[in-house]
This record gives sequence, C-alpha cells and structure tokens, in this order.
Amino acid sequence: METTILVVEDEEKLARFIELELQHEGYKVEKVLNGRDALEKAVSVSYDLILLDIMLPGLNGLEVLRRLNKENPTPVILLTARDAVMDKVSGLDAGAVDYVTKPFAIEELLARIRVALKLHKGTRGGRMEQEQSVTGAESGIYRWGELVLQTAEHTVRYAGQAISLTNREFCLLETLLENMDIVLSRDILLEKVCGYEYAGETNVIDVYVRYLRSKIDEAFGVRMIQTVRGVGYVIRS
Ligand code: CA
Repeated sequence: METTILVVEDEEKLARFIELELQHEGYKVEKVLNGRDALEKAVSVSYDLILLDIMLPGLNGLEVLRRLNKENPTPVILLTARDAVMDKVSGLDAGAVDYVTKPFAIEELLARIRVALKLHKGTRGGRMEQEQSVTGAESGIYRWGELVLQTAEHTVRYAGQAISLTNREFCLLETLLENMDIVLSRDILLEKVCGYEYAGETNVIDVYVRYLRSKIDEAFGVRMIQTVRGVGYVIRS
C-alpha cells in the first residue's frame, strides 16, 4: 500500500521542494498551504504522516495538532524555526512524534520521516496493524555484549532490560554500532545525529555521549563508548 504524506507549509517554494523530494522517494504527497485546509484534510483523510509547519497563516500548526489529536490522531513531524524552543516543547507535549528545525538538510528530513513511519506504522486513524517481525542479517539488529539495539522497533535492551533513549541518543548509539571498530569524528557523528544546522557545535556530541554513558555504562557497569583523544568516539567489538 502506498504511503501518503500530507505536507503543510505556507512557503510555496519550500512546500513544492519537499513535495518533489518525497515523491522522488516514492511517497504519495498532498500539500496544503494553510492551517485550516490542513485540519480539514487531516480530519477527513487518514494520512500515514503529516509534516506540519508551526508558523502558518490562520490556524497555526500547534492548534492544528491539538485539534487533530482529538479527531483523527496521526503521526506528525513539526517544522519549526531555529530558535523556537518553546514551540518544540509545546509541539512534543501536544503529541508530535518529532520536529525538524528549519533550515534543514533534506536528507535529515527524509531520515526523520523514515524513523517516524517505522515507529508509528499502523497508527493512522487509530488503527493498529500487526507488528512486523524482523530477522536476519540485514534486519538492523546490533549487538554489543549483552546490549541489543533493534532499529525497526527502536528499542535498546541490556541483558533484556529496556533502556529508554531519546531519538538522538538512539541515533548516536546506532551510528556507533553500525560502524563498530571504526573511529568516528565528532563532525561525522554530529551530521548523522543532528543534521547540518548544528555544524560546528561538536560539543553537542560530547553531551549525548555523556547521556549514553550514564544510561548504559554507569547503569550496567560496562565501558562501551570509547573516547579516542583528538579524534572522536568508537565502540569496539
Ligand atoms: Ca511558515
């Protein structure tokens, strides 16, 4: 079945650009340019995902999100302005599954869309589909000692015990596990984990590594992520 995404963005050029990129990825796309049309469509049609700009004429994105949640809950990724921290917080509180900060690299947006679709597959219109079972080498399952990360299910367990990670912590851990025994620079990790708008702020990665160490290394008495002085980080097999 086709995956249908509703794009809600009042900057026409940007909306058109996103539409073309998504179509290129094989998604079916509908786009609207204001909040009222967005709400009308999203209530009557069940989309797999909605990309929702917050700053919209008429009815803003957060209002659309709140009303949509009452009438036809749908996974929503918010598009927010760079410094709108309160918007991000209110957006996540209002039930958005993720947000992407403008300006964004299209690759980052596409990656977030894939994650959101994986995580929220089958939730459209409140309908639950059976979970896919994932097996085999190409299944996105990574192991390190007692630790198991499952990409499709977005879960991390240590000796069977679930570890709760934020999206970025998860993405960082997954990137390191995917590249086991390869030392990755902070710049590379930053781009993978946060997208280009953070360029230069490589200490962001140190912060996420600290979070991961406290949730995994300290919690389970292991030394998983190693610092390579002057270079970056690595997980060794
Ligand atoms: Ca806007």
